Amino acid sequence: MRYRVLFETQQPLVTADGPQAGNFIETLGYIPGSAVWGALGGRAARSLRMDDPAQRALFDEAFNGSKALRFNNLYPALLVFDEFDATAATLIPSRPVPRSAVTCKAVPGFRSDRISPLRGIARGHGVSDEVTGHHPNCQSCHARTERVSVEFYTVSVAGAAGSFAPSKSYRVHNEIDDVRGRTKHGKLFAVLGLGRRQFFVGSIEVSDVHPQSGGSWLDLLPTADGAGHPLVLGKRRGSYGGGCMRLELDVPDATCDLWGYTLAERLERTRDGVFNVTLDSDAIIVDEWLQHRADLEPMRAKWQADLGHEIEPTEAWVATRSYAGWNGVDGCPREPELLTAAGSVFTFRAPTADPQELADLLGRAEAEGVGLRRNEGFGKIIINDSFHTAQGIAAGLDAR
Ligand SMILES: [Zn+2]
Repeated sequence: MRYRVLFETQQPLVTADGPQAGNFIETLGYIPGSAVWGALGGRAARSLRMDDPAQRALFDEAFNGSKALRFNNLYPALLVFDEFDATAATLIPSRPVPRSAVTCKAVPGFRSDRISPLRGIARGHGVSDEVTGHHPNCQSCHARTERVSVEFYTVSVAGAAGSFAPSKSYRVHNEIDDVRGRTKHGKLFAVLGLGRRQFFVGSIEVSDVHPQSGGSWLDLLPTADGAGHPLVLGKRRGSYGGGCMRLELDVPDATCDLWGYTLAERLERTRDGVFNVTLDSDAIIVDEWLQHRADLEPMRAKWQADLGHEIEPTEAWVATRSYAGWNGVDGCPREPELLTAAGSVFTFRAPTADPQELADLLGRAEAEGVGLRRNEGFGKIIINDSFHTAQGIAAGLDAR
């Protein structure tokens, strides 16, 4: 069972995943699942009687590392009002741009993007996807191509992809002297946060397994009656992070890509055993020795063993970053972890596999996700995302 989660910022919001140094603090462009997990877990802990063993057990099942509740990232969404009915509005979600996307170096951007090159306003020369072939030059102006630098893309009702960025705003604060409790003269720091009145969309997945403790995990979430619940998220709570969260019951298998293709429809795109895996969120991949890895090799080996046929890695477009969170228990920085970044793309082929068995395996793989801390939204994957199809790149360089 899945809930669609909507969050509207009513204060600026700062989400970050590590200690930040200096006098400038910048938010991430989205709300990590771990921030939703932390906020709802804190709220549940306050409403439960934690000295009651049954309530404590229910809390632990839901929030402490089990897979009962999975909190996926909330990505920025565009609110589009109906042209003829001002009360009707649609939220158009966004996703991280796949790392396999390239664009023109001279006039970068999707063809629906309005950009400002040196002279006037123009449309981007388009985006192509290297999963479908290599695109060293722009078809319009023959300039070299480069990787798309914007973080998110969205797809219009008409099916055209475009880049998307949440709005951010600055606030300048005085630094407080810890001893005197007053502002330090001349000491300022700036916070770049996500702006007010913006929407973020994601999901919470609820396990079908009945809780051992006899309670209901759903009782720990804000009631799903359509009314919004005030909730404070992210860092620097107090003057930041206030907003309204709403949960809506989603249909169980509505795991669609931005073009609306369901998992079943996407699995049908596997031809001759060729398929691709796109990371929808950052992933923490470790091998059997708990060594961090950037690729999906531990999963590939497991999938191959389950299938009983060879699964060969073919190409990969990967970015990594390091993640150094705080350990809340002892107040020390955690050991930095290597993250395989959202948007990384891996292609594989399993030429001898039975198509139905391969589809079943990939369906389970998408539902499970990859790597560690999946309950905090890490390691969510999309099999055969429409971005990597002719339709996905209809706005691409080649189409001109
Ligand atoms: Zn060009």
